[in-house]
Amino acid sequence: MTPEKAICKYDRKQIRENLREFALIVAEPEFICRKCGRAASEKESLCRPVKLKKLLE
Ligand SMILES: [Zn+2]
Repeated sequence: MTPEKAICKYDRKQIRENLREFALIVAEPEFICRKCGRAASEKESLCRPVKLKKLLE
């Protein structure tokens, strides 16, 4: 199993099949994708990452 690095690229099937890995990536979010609305701890996991903290301050 070699899932795409960016969870933005996951389709429904990939999310279903890699749900635990997906959960680990989003469990402690630092970044949000401004295109897809997904969140992740690593900016590499998103296609258009923005720091969550920046948006929330
Ligand atoms: Zn994205």
